[in-house]
Order: sequence, then C-alpha cells, then structure tokens
Amino acid sequence: MADLAKPAALRPSTVAVHAGRPPHEPDQPLNVPITMASTYVGGGDKEYGRYTNDAWVAFEDTLGALEGGKALAFASGQAATATLLDLVDADSVVVAGQSYLGTAGQLADRESRGRVKTRLVDVSDTKAVIAALDEDTALLWLESPTNPGMELADLPALIAAAHDVGARVVVDNTFATPILQRPLELGADIVLHSATKYLAGHSDVVMGAVVVADPSLWDVLKGRRDLYGAVPGPFETWLALRGLRTLPLRIERASANAAELARRLEQHPAVTEVRYPGLGAMLAVVLATPEQAELLTHSTLLWVHATSLGGVESTFERRRRWKGEAREVPEGLVRLSVGIEDVADLWADLEQALDRL
Ligand SMILES: *Cc1c(COP(=O)(O)O)cnc(C)c1O
Repeated sequence: MADLAKPAALRPSTVAVHAGRPPHEPDQPLNVPITMASTYVGGGDKEYGRYTNDAWVAFEDTLGALEGGKALAFASGQAATATLLDLVDADSVVVAGQSYLGTAGQLADRESRGRVKTRLVDVSDTKAVIAALDEDTALLWLESPTNPGMELADLPALIAAAHDVGARVVVDNTFATPILQRPLELGADIVLHSATKYLAGHSDVVMGAVVVADPSLWDVLKGRRDLYGAVPGPFETWLALRGLRTLPLRIERASANAAELARRLEQHPAVTEVRYPGLGAMLAVVLATPEQAELLTHSTLLWVHATSLGGVESTFERRRRWKGEAREVPEGLVRLSVGIEDVADLWADLEQALDRL
C-alpha cells in the first residue's frame, strides 16, 4: 500500500481518502476487500486470523497517517486501554485526569487488586497535575477535552513535565480526533481512540485503536494483541475505515453545528451553564435539576436519548444516570453529541423541549 504517513506531504482530508488503499494497478479494487479468514495457507507472513487481517492493516495505515504515528486496531477502546495499562508494573503510579468512566473503572479495578497506584487529578489545573508526577509515575493518562466535564488540558506543558520524571504520556483523543488535535506532534507517546465514536462515526461499530510514535513500542503492543486476542472483526474494521474516509467532512460540519448550538444555548433561560471548549462537536449543558435534565432528554423528536457519541446523528444523555460517573459531574449535566443534520432543525427541536421545562 502507498505510504502516506508523511504529514507534510498531503493534508488530512486527502490522507483520509487516499491512505490504506491497494496500489493503482489494473484490476486492483479501489478498496481493500473484506477478508473473512481465520487461517491462511501456511508458510507465508499471515498464518492466522488473530495475527493479521488486510482490513486491520488498511485501517491502521490510514489512522496512523492521520495521527502521524503507527496505529494498532483493537476490539474496543476498552480493550486498547487494558492493553496499555498492562504496560504498568504493580508498584508504579498512573496519574489520570477526570476521564471516561470505563478508564476510571479499569484503574479502580486494578488498584483494588494491588496492580497499580492511581492519583486522580484535575487536568485543567496544570500545576496540580505536575505536582502529582514523581519518579514512581509510569503513565500520565490525559483526556482533553474530558468526557463529560469538557475541561481542556495544557498538553505541551503536561507532556514535558511527565517526560522530566521519566513517565510515558497517553492522550485519549476520542473527542478531538486527529482532525483537530494531533497529540504525537505535541510530544505524547501514545494516542488512544474509541474508534466506536468519531472514527467509525455511524453508531454501528464497537472498536478501538492505539497510535504510537515509537515503532519498538508498537512491536510490544502488537505482541500483546496477538497474545491476548483483543482483535476486531474484519467487517467492523472495514466499516470503521469506511467511516474514516469522511471523518474530516463530518468533523467540519458537526463542529460548526456545535458552535452554533452552544451560542444559542447560552441565551436560553432554562440553561444554567454551557460547557463548550470551542473544540469539536461535543458540548455539555447544566440544567437546574436532574429532573429537568431527564425531561429534556425525553422531549425531543430528532435528538436521541442514547449513550455513546460521535455518530452522524445527534444524541444526548444525562451522564449521572450512570452509577460509575464521577461525583464532580453535576446531576443536571446533559452531554450532547452534535451530528451533521441541519443546525436549524437541531435547534428547533432542542428549543421546543427547553421551552417546556
Ligand atoms: C467510549 C470511550 C472509550 C471506550 O471505548 P469503547 O469503544 O466503548 O470500548 C474510551 N474513551 C473515551 C473518551 C470514550 O468516549
């Protein structure tokens, strides 16, 4: 496949369309076909379906080119997270911001079994994060914007401070995507994605990915993926790559919609607070009571009350309906994942529901 991992050569919208394709030769298909195979005729490089699949390689080449590193596909974002946390020895520390509840859940689970020490920090407080780092720190785990608090982290400052104490830095880039933020260019060691969200983008796939700058770290992670078997199906990967082709377009449209909705929500009297960092298509609103938040999420025609995010369709939910959600998240907070519909229709639907509160 053509090597498009030269970010300076082509722009992201072009890379998203052209990376991970078969060569331009007569009778080659334009897209890598789905190969449903558990085993291959022996003696070659492939051998077995847990080690490789053409769709994984095409997806990984494309995501790697977009993030500026080497990518590895996983069965889910959580499978990717578990594989990364397995890099950490039992007595070392992971410093983590208020993050996705599944990340927090894995850290708490490991801590309860003595397999890691966790220090939780507020990523928007740069000084506090730096103060939590020391020579026992193996990993600094960042999300920016955070899910669902929508805080931003000063990535370059935090990455530099973590490297000063010898820690590796993971940035969960699920919300921003490589279209808006490329953490490896800012010095991060590892990027994590729930490909379930924006990368696949159509609410029909569960998948994850890791992207790293250092090829030797890629080899280690590939070895663990082979060993543990946290691999995605060929069809899921094919769908995720199909989604990736339109990522730049979808992000452009959904981000413009989100900015416009944030502006209008600010002016609505039923809304106490709007959290919109001005980056991407995710935002959150805080309503006066949890009851109002529940009512809002059940009073719309277009907006779907659903968890997850990053699809072409707009969805929203009150996050504290989940028992594992952090106590810092207000009871009345509704997280909105803005889709690519016409923004006038999205606003009309939200406004009629807010007017009834
Ligand atoms: C959904 C999500 C994950 C977990 O990914 P899955 O694909 O659901 O396993 C990790 N991080 C963030 C920010 C997410 O939103």
